[in-house]
Formats: sequence, structure tokens, C-alpha cells
Amino acid sequence: MEGPLRFLAILGVLAGGLCVAGQGPSDYPFEPVAFTSVRVTDAFWLPRIETNRTITIPYIMKMNEETGRVDNFRKAAGLLKGPHTGKRYNDSDIFKIMEAASYSLMVHPDPALEKALDDLIAVIGKAQEPDGYLYTARTIDPANPPPGAGAERWSNLRVSHELYNVGHMYEAAVAHFQATGKRAFLDIALKNAEFLLGTFGPGKRRGFPGHQEIEIGLAKLYRATGNYSYMELARFFLDERGHYFQGESYPPESPFSIYNSDEYLQNHKPVLRQEEAVGHSVRAAYMFSGMADVAALTGSPEYVTAIDRLWENLVSKKMYLTGGIGAKGETEAFGDAYELPNREAYTETCAAIGNAFWNQRLFLLHGDAKYADVLEKIIYNGLLSGVSLSGDRFFYQNPLESAGGYGRSPFFEVACCPANVARFLPSLPGYIYARSGDDVYLNLFIPSEAALSVREKKVVIRQASRYPWEGTIRIAVEPVAKAKDKTNAKVEFTLFVRIPGWAENEAVPGDLYRFLGEPEAQPVLKINGKAVAIDLERGYAKVRRAWVKGDVVELSLPMEVRRVAAKEDVVEDMDKVALQRGPLVYCVEAVDNGGKALDIALPDAAALTAEFKPGLLGGVVVVSGKACRTGTAEGSPAAETTFTAIPYYAWANRGNGEMAVWLPRK
Ligand SMILES: [Zn+2]
Repeated sequence: MEGPLRFLAILGVLAGGLCVAGQGPSDYPFEPVAFTSVRVTDAFWLPRIETNRTITIPYIMKMNEETGRVDNFRKAAGLLKGPHTGKRYNDSDIFKIMEAASYSLMVHPDPALEKALDDLIAVIGKAQEPDGYLYTARTIDPANPPPGAGAERWSNLRVSHELYNVGHMYEAAVAHFQATGKRAFLDIALKNAEFLLGTFGPGKRRGFPGHQEIEIGLAKLYRATGNYSYMELARFFLDERGHYFQGESYPPESPFSIYNSDEYLQNHKPVLRQEEAVGHSVRAAYMFSGMADVAALTGSPEYVTAIDRLWENLVSKKMYLTGGIGAKGETEAFGDAYELPNREAYTETCAAIGNAFWNQRLFLLHGDAKYADVLEKIIYNGLLSGVSLSGDRFFYQNPLESAGGYGRSPFFEVACCPANVARFLPSLPGYIYARSGDDVYLNLFIPSEAALSVREKKVVIRQASRYPWEGTIRIAVEPVAKAKDKTNAKVEFTLFVRIPGWAENEAVPGDLYRFLGEPEAQPVLKINGKAVAIDLERGYAKVRRAWVKGDVVELSLPMEVRRVAAKEDVVEDMDKVALQRGPLVYCVEAVDNGGKALDIALPDAAALTAEFKPGLLGGVVVVSGKACRTGTAEGSPAAETTFTAIPYYAWANRGNGEMAVWLPRK
């Protein structure tokens, strides 16, 4: 039995009467190969996953202690005296790092980390009120809740984050149970969820969370327990949006006045009628992910229609080349169509992660490679930029241009982003492969070894490459013979290998960005050394055969440096180019370019070369060539210069100088 099925079976045994597996009407037609069945071996992601495990996770746990986030739970538990400190949503930072730690434990046992989680869980259990309610901001001193929390439970759901916090707890509790088999945290989550089932719903209290997240958490609880009521509650919270204003209204001078806007929290229309990505971009991305879960797990076609429409809007009008989303800093929100400022770009790390969650879900729903194209663009660029190479400095915003002086921070007062990266990285191996029936999908070119069962036979897939630096990917497929079999094992199935859109002359799905010029080469597919015509279906090269040990599929992707232009409607990028090589977007940074980057112009005719620099930024391919310095004095001619560009994700690791992704063409 593979990951999810085995997990349901474990739960079925442990949960006793709680578990009614298989009650839901449907699930995603495509199933990811669980990251616990995939061993990453590559030189690009593995060091980052290791840094995340050894530096980032312990660092954030320490910061949660030092900033009073854990103490809030101790105070709510009666173990410590004093008022609630920090933001009303700080509980979520604890839950998110517990989720990260749990994923890490699944592939790397660590008794000390496991003990630290047990200790935290004991405190969280004591902080939970007898009926299941959990929100330290109120429990510590119910008569004096902090600003925004609302006078009573649920009285200010637009602002309070009561449901947002526990949504993260559900995700963490499921991860912890999967990692350790221990029920303590899951029981806390289920007690809370049961309390919500008795509180919210048709004929009970109505309302919706101002910040989405619980929908994703409830879908995970449903998957873990088979209790379909959780799924119905997720759908209820989504369907409540767009019908009425709830909670408090604030005067214009209040820092909370932003919450008066229905658009800000996606309450301007019922979700099924929403056609445009608007408002706070993290909320939106979490909502779209929750909608995808509802679409798949309830089998609702109108939900599928709604999220497909929203995706088209996003990729054709509102997404940055880096996969980042959210243009407006002051409201952390989407801008209008084509409003994509580079220097002021908000592009929160959490929004990129939410966009990755959503695109993965759309792939699992539709099995189309275009969603993996967007996912790949996000993870190699606008998401990975969120954490430093050292693992302990972070970006909240990921702009595409800097005039200098903008750098990474050790932590934030609103610290959603660091723990979000920390939980994404260890689960990344779960995005590489997927299944649908006997078909096997390869979405990401991350060297790894995956063990799966096809037609009841064990098959090992080994992927080797120097991606994203080089474009040759070797995929060995090996059916494993049972010990008693004398003959070589043979298994017939179809392997779908993603042919990235960028290798087919499409910079990113949608028509926002296009490559300039023609490609010099096409992808080449070889089977056991012999080139074959690519049989393309939904963006995948389809290879069907009776696989035997020794079979190798080799894919060669053209790794030229391509110039990218944006649609003319994007005023900020007019007459500019960006550089892309493979999945990576490049930028010029002052430190490589004589202390300045914003005066570099790149003429169309300038030749570009790519070279691997093993000693730079952990080893990167840099792009260089001749460019011009735009004249500073009136009428002075542009001076010829050479320039060096680095992968965007790696900027701001050597000081906080100027940086630009988009360069003037003249
Ligand atoms: Zn964030």
C-alpha cells in the first residue's frame, strides 16, 4: 500500500468509530507519489532541504520562543502569568513550524526534535479550552482580547484569524500523526474540528474566516479520518463568502480599516461567481487551493469551472515572471490587470507558496503539464528567493527590482513567511512524481529515486541530471523482480514525462510573457539511446512500453539563454527584456556589475553566454555578455560594458545592492 492508502488504514485502526473511510464521493484523479516514497539525490535541492532541516527549522523554533509566541500557549495553559503578546495570529507560526518539523521527521528521524514537538503538543493541549476552542489571544484573558480579536468568540471573524490559526493546526496535526503515529496532536485538532462542526453550518452559526486556510486544513482532516463532515464544513465556509458583511466596521483612521473592504478578503462575490483574482493575494491563493480541494473531494463541477476561470485570469493578467503574485504593497493585494510594478512588487513569499499549492492541486485535478510549468516557475524563482542560502534570513516581499538597501530579515513581527518556506521545502519531493491508475507522471526534474507499485509490481524510477544547470535528464525505470522469480521482471505502463512549456517556446503558460527570437533547438527524447518522436499529450511525452530492468529514457532540453518580453499592456516592462534559462529567471545585481545594476541596458543584438561557476552562491550558472550603461549626463552616449546576471532566487545573499530582472532594450 502506498502512502495515503496506508495512512488511511492506520487511521482506520487507530480512530475506531471516528473513521468512515471512503465516504466522500470522489478524490483528485491524479495522486502524488508521497514524498516519503521519494528520495531526493540532487545537488540543487538536497542542500537546501538539508539547510532547512539543520538551520531553518531549529532557528524558527528558537525565534518562536524568543518572541513570546510559545509563551502565549503557556499563558493560555495557565503555566505562565501575563498578557497575550504579539499578533492575534501568532499561534499559526507555531503550528506551521510543527508541520515543517513533522515533514522533516518523516524522512529524517530526530529524537530530540520529536521530543520538542511532544513538549509543545502537551502545552497546546492544556491551552485548548474544555469544549475544543483554541485561540490563545482570547483564552489568556477573555475579558480583554487584543485588538481585532472581537469582544466574543467568532464575533469578528473577518479580522480575528480564529479559524485561520486552527486551519494551520489541522495541517500540522495531520503531518505529525503521519510522521510519528502519535495521536496527541491529532486529537487536539479533531476536538477543535468537532467543536466547529457543532458551531458552524446551516441552521447553526453562519460566517466565514477573513483569512482563508481552514478550508485546506479541513480537507486534510477529511482525508485523514474519512469524516466527510469536515469537507462539508470547508465548502460551507467557502459558500458563505459574498453574501453579507460580518463583524466590525472600522473608522478610516483605524489600522483595521482595510478589513472594511469586501474585495480585500474575497467577499465581494460568491466564490463560484468570482472571475478575477483580487484582494489580499495570500488569502486568495489559499482560497483557490481550498476551492480545488472542494472541487475534487466533493466532485462539484461548478467549483472546477470557477477555479479554472480564476487561473486563466491569474496567468494572463496578474502573475510575475518569477511566479510571484500580489502587486500592491500597502494592501498586500493584487493590482488591476497588467498592474505589475517591479520595484514596488509585493509578491509575498507566502503568496508564491499559495500559488504553488494551487497549481499542484490543479495538476492533480486535470493532469495537464501547464500547471506543473507554473509550479516549476514558482519554486525555482519567486518562492526560493524567500529564504537566504544560509537558511536564517528571509524575504517577506520578493520584488523584481531594487534601488539598493532592501535586504533579508532575521525574522518579522508578522512571521508567516519563514515557517511557510520551512514547511514547503521538506515536502517538495512529493511534487516530483504522480500517478493516475497505472500511468506514472514525472513533473519535476529533481534527481531522485522513487519507489512505487504499478500493476502490483514494485517499480523504481531513478532520475539523474544536473538540472537546472544542464538539460539532459536520464530516467531509469526498473521493475523489481520478486526473489523467487528467475526471469527479469517486466511491467507495462505509460510514463508521462513533462516537456516544459519553456522548452516548447512558451516562457510561461498564458500570454503575459513571450520569448523573443526563435529557439535554436528542440527537446529530444531517446529510449535506450535511440531518438524517438515525442508523442505529446497534455504537455507530456508519452512513453508506453513493457519496461524491463536497464530501460532508460533520456530527455534533452535546450538550455539556451532566452530573452523574455512582457505583453505591451504591462507598462512597467515596456521596452525591456528579462533573461530566462531553463526554469530560472535571471537578474543583474550590483555586486557583480561594478556596484550598480539599474543603469544596465541590454541591446537585442548582444550575444549572451552561460557558464557554471562552482564557487559562486553555492554553484550557479551565470549569464554574461556585452551591455550598455545608460548615460547619466544629459545627451551623453551609453558606454559599452560587460554584465553578469545570476539566478533571481540567489540575489541579496552578498549585500543589499541594486538589482533588476527587467532590463531596458535600449
Ligand atoms: Zn507570509
